[in-house]
Amino acid sequence: MNLFTSLIRIPRQVYIKRHLGTSTLRLNSIPRPLTQFTEDELLMKDSVSRLAKEEISPLVRKMEKEGKIDEGLVRKLFENGLMGVEIPEKYGGTGSNFMSTILTVEEVAKVDGSVAALVDIHNTLVNSLISKVATEEQKAKYLPRLAQDYAGSFCLTEPNSGSDAFSLKTEAKKDGSDYVINGTKMWISNSDIAGLFLVFANANPSVGYRGITTFFVERDTPGLTIAKPEDKLGIKASGTCMVHFENVRVPESNILGEFGHGYKYAAGFLNEGRIGIGAQMIGIAQGSLDATIPYTLERKQFGKDIFSFQSMQHQIAQAVTDLECARLLVYNAARLVDAKKDVMKEAAMAKLVASETALRVTAKCIDFMGGVGYTTDFPQEKFFRDCKIGTIYEGTSNMQLSTIAKCIRKEYS
Ligand SMILES: Cc1cc2nc3c(=O)[nH]c(=O)nc-3n(C[C@H](O)[C@H](O)[C@H](O)COP(=O)(O)OP(=O)(O)OC[C@H]3O[C@@H](n4cnc5c(N)ncnc54)[C@H](O)[C@@H]3O)c2cc1C
Repeated sequence: MNLFTSLIRIPRQVYIKRHLGTSTLRLNSIPRPLTQFTEDELLMKDSVSRLAKEEISPLVRKMEKEGKIDEGLVRKLFENGLMGVEIPEKYGGTGSNFMSTILTVEEVAKVDGSVAALVDIHNTLVNSLISKVATEEQKAKYLPRLAQDYAGSFCLTEPNSGSDAFSLKTEAKKDGSDYVINGTKMWISNSDIAGLFLVFANANPSVGYRGITTFFVERDTPGLTIAKPEDKLGIKASGTCMVHFENVRVPESNILGEFGHGYKYAAGFLNEGRIGIGAQMIGIAQGSLDATIPYTLERKQFGKDIFSFQSMQHQIAQAVTDLECARLLVYNAARLVDAKKDVMKEAAMAKLVASETALRVTAKCIDFMGGVGYTTDFPQEKFFRDCKIGTIYEGTSNMQLSTIAKCIRKEYS
């Protein structure tokens, strides 16, 4: 008798008791479906969704035009706990899990990609890295500010080291009990408003990438200058600047975690960051669909609403299905982070699929709208522009494929 036929003959609970040697308590350990959330997660999702509609939505076009995120809005993000989702309550954060961060980023991205980028990078890269590797003293110094009023920037990329991030040239030279940092970082998100910069610099170039060390640098440190924000295709309100370090002197106590472990932190925490980018992408694509499908139900051509045409229905069904596939990859990777599992492959897959899917879905939404979708009177063109960055930052799609291939090789070797 195989497992399937034996299950038909005996009630499920008896089977569980007999074969797993436990009481029916085992039933409670059945994994939660990926699209179901705990009460806390739901509360977070709903309150962020409300904030996004009431507070962010009215400012979207103004922020895009001005190329910066509204200062009052940044304050509200802090006041409402969006900037300290996983920071423990004892440091003034919300004390939630990684899934809550992902839901927060997704809900914000449904309304605005730039604000989602700010919330995402601040939470999944800066807060997360500090919470996990900083000393108790450093946590007590920085986490309350990061939960309250200090936006964070993650400074890895340089003009000559993008995909090949660990060939970075920024140096940190020991001078007495200080380090002196010299170099230039490029494409640094949030740097227009950040109070704290996590800077990856090589403090011992003789050992190559194993000399890369992470430093806390505060905005008002002499020698740190921030160039004017880049004029970009999308996420125009997200401040992306070059950051120069000229003889920036910081004490040894500003080393985050261990000396020479910067490359490990960058590689490890970019996994969480990539799931965050996945959340941005599924949020943007969902925002675009939510703005488009009602229009297809109302717009009439040939005497019918355009949703009635089977070719329209099939394309809309395909877009919604593709987005659901991407969402499941993102949520699964997020659940794995909360379960403290290795997520290198899952994070790369989630980012790859979510960003490529968002590009296709948002482009389709413009098609579904016809001519008006191509104008700035409707939000579809902005969703399309805002999601293009997903295939580039925190590792291009090629680099995600390389990471996935590396994991596959390991599994089969
Ligand atoms: C808006 C924006 C915000 C950003 N925010 C940040 C930030 O906050 N912090 C930060 O540190 N960085 C940030 N970045 C930098 C971003 O992560 C890099 O742009 C990205 O990693 C790609 O690096 P690159 O631009 O130098 O491209 P390159 O590395 O020069 O790549 C160019 C092309 O070559 C391909 N390529 C390169 N090497 C390989 C390879 N080995 N195999 C196959 N293909 C390859 C790439 O896939 C790509 O198609 C941001 C970038 C942008 C545009």
